[in-house]
Amino acid sequence: MSQPVTSQPVTARTQVEPLIVAVVGSGPSGFYAASSLLEQTAVPVRVDMYERLATPWGLVRSGVAPDHPKIKTVSGVYEQIAAHENFRFFGNVHIGRDVTREELTARYDAVLYAVGTQTDRRLGIPGEDLPGSVSAVDFVGWYNGHPEYAGYTFDLTGERAVVIGAGNVALDVARLLCSPYERLARTDIADHALTALRESTITEVMVVGRRGAAQAAFTTPELRELPEFTESGVDVDPAEVAQQPGEDALSRSAKRNLAVLRGYAATPVPPGARHVTLRFQRTPLEIRGDGRVEEVVFARNELKVDADGWVSAVDTGERETVPASLVLRAVGYRGVAFGGLPFDERRGVIPNDQGRVQGTEREYVAGWIKRGPTGIIGTNRKCAAETVTRLLADLADGSLRRHDRGVAFDHDVEIVSWLLERQPHLVTADGWALIDAAERAAGAVSGRPRVKLVLTDELLDIALERQSVTPR
Ligand code: NAP
Repeated sequence: MSQPVTSQPVTARTQVEPLIVAVVGSGPSGFYAASSLLEQTAVPVRVDMYERLATPWGLVRSGVAPDHPKIKTVSGVYEQIAAHENFRFFGNVHIGRDVTREELTARYDAVLYAVGTQTDRRLGIPGEDLPGSVSAVDFVGWYNGHPEYAGYTFDLTGERAVVIGAGNVALDVARLLCSPYERLARTDIADHALTALRESTITEVMVVGRRGAAQAAFTTPELRELPEFTESGVDVDPAEVAQQPGEDALSRSAKRNLAVLRGYAATPVPPGARHVTLRFQRTPLEIRGDGRVEEVVFARNELKVDADGWVSAVDTGERETVPASLVLRAVGYRGVAFGGLPFDERRGVIPNDQGRVQGTEREYVAGWIKRGPTGIIGTNRKCAAETVTRLLADLADGSLRRHDRGVAFDHDVEIVSWLLERQPHLVTADGWALIDAAERAAGAVSGRPRVKLVLTDELLDIALERQSVTPR
């Protein structure tokens, strides 16, 4: 491990006292919140971004599938935001372990949490915790090289994996499990996952939705790209994509999805090809096996449309048993309670009014922990902007009051000294730049965008050896 960093002397101070904001979390919503704060001109603002990992970008680094490099190019926008003179990055700082929430609110005029959703929704069925039944959240973290999932192992020695859920995360994991090694080897997938997937004997990944094909949460481009990425067809049962209840009133995206699915149904999968199967109107009732997953029991559903047009799945009483060695539960992410802030257990979010945390004085939320795990990356821009608008309105009407710091307080210096005391292995923007350069250089040698470092110690070794820690 490298030597801890030390603080260097301050060089300058601004004349006009800025509003000092901490953004906790460096994923898309954290960066969009920082951007909204720094771009507005009503109030001078300084943003310090806190991240518990040594690396920024949240789900853009550890959630977006490695074979979707175009989606990851949004990180260029975050780099531009990070280059703003009034922005600082503090990585490897765990709120609740290294510093407390109360300490943050005592030092910052406002604290904005963009901490995302750290866990998965549960199915609540027997056998859910059998070995071989895993959360897609864990699997995604593992193949993306998130340090907290680097030590996981998944048994890929069977023939069929079942993915529960009909959303984009289900498609991501199905695609990764079916992709040819050569394709994955050109991506920034974690090396440990690349090796494991090369050895995989899985030939079929069955993605199962509980409602109908028209109610699937897939987005059409993700559905449409499946055969190209997996180099095999997609098995869809023609009966399941025939005329749907209330078809005329379906949304445009549901109609587009249906058209793609009908195309798949018309083209049989070549025998023996590793492929994705999509099945609908099945609810998992039980995961069974002798000491590990062997099969999944499903209820077959019919669809009922209520007066508002909502389509629900109703058990017909018919059962179906599907043999499988691996079950991936991809039924959505879920937020966890954070640092004693109020928490809505049912929805898994921090209750808020347009981003202001209920019952608090200077705390705000943005992104999935504010509204739940929905939408694409860009959705977080609007969500964060709403929170920042609220924050500035609170400042304007006096419900958000700045700290009276006194003339002797130098935020730039004080914060860094305090953080170094609490976390000597603090990673700054400079440290992240060193990590980024090292990963990209390793990738360039093998024709990949980057080779990710997945162990925190490795990341810190690179960042701390040469980074400088100036107050600003
Ligand atoms: P999601 O879109 O909410 O999909 C969850 C799926 O799980 C739905 O089909 C849902 O069915 C099903 N489900 C929920 N509870 C269930 C249960 N108890 N039993 C069986 N099925 C159940 O969630 P996600 O796939 O985790 O994606 C999260 C967000 O990230 C989405 O907005 C997604 O579009 C986005 N994302 C985007 C990309 C991309 O753009 N490439 C990639 C990954 C993720 P019901 O509809 O019946 O509830």
